[in-house]
Amino acid sequence: MRGTAIADLSWEDLLDTMEREARKRGAPVYSFKGERNPFQILVSAILSTRTRDEQTIKVSERLFKMVKRPEDILKLSEDELDELIREVGFHRVKAKNLRRLADILVREYGSRVPDRLEDLLKLPGVGRKVANIVLANAFGKPAIAVDTHVHRIANRMGIVRTKRPEETEKELMKIVPKELWHRVNKPFVGFGQTVCKPTKPLCGECPFKDVCPKLNNISAINHSKTSL
Ligand code: SF4
Repeated sequence: MRGTAIADLSWEDLLDTMEREARKRGAPVYSFKGERNPFQILVSAILSTRTRDEQTIKVSERLFKMVKRPEDILKLSEDELDELIREVGFHRVKAKNLRRLADILVREYGSRVPDRLEDLLKLPGVGRKVANIVLANAFGKPAIAVDTHVHRIANRMGIVRTKRPEETEKELMKIVPKELWHRVNKPFVGFGQTVCKPTKPLCGECPFKDVCPKLNNISAINHSKTSL
């Protein structure tokens, strides 16, 4: 990529490069074993808030041996569920929310996960990030799930200049081609887990080191829909 700038890269190239690098380095986001159904994707996304990725994966894999549908959560008492997810942040609140959420899904949605943003946002413990992860990963719908990795890296690379993840989501929706929205989250997360880490990013080993504004003191913002 020497001789080019971030703004000259296509979104496909950027996402492919991030994904390749993240997979090569064993990023936790790509290490989930087996397929997950929409309900398990929703539960994982809720568990992941304020929690390290490694812990989310460990707890999810343990939980999903017993929990495949909302009814399975309702068979567990709040204390039993809390014990099963005790390694994630705010596990007590999450155990309570997961039981309430499972009850709503069974009673109001025929045990299915809704595939509309407005319905997802009404569920306990579900904010925009979680809802967008479900829409993108469970249903392949156009949604950009912005977590701390996406927010941090998009700003470091000069793709956006924002203060909060909600603003980043809005800005990215203006510049990422809609057919790629559902693909954005995982490559950014994997790249953030392995290369562009929150503290001490591995800039010297980064495939974007020759073009990243953080190292090259250039602006990358270009609101073209075909490139960055
Ligand atoms: S050069 Fe550094 S700051 Fe820029 S994307 Fe790579 S790791 Fe992140």
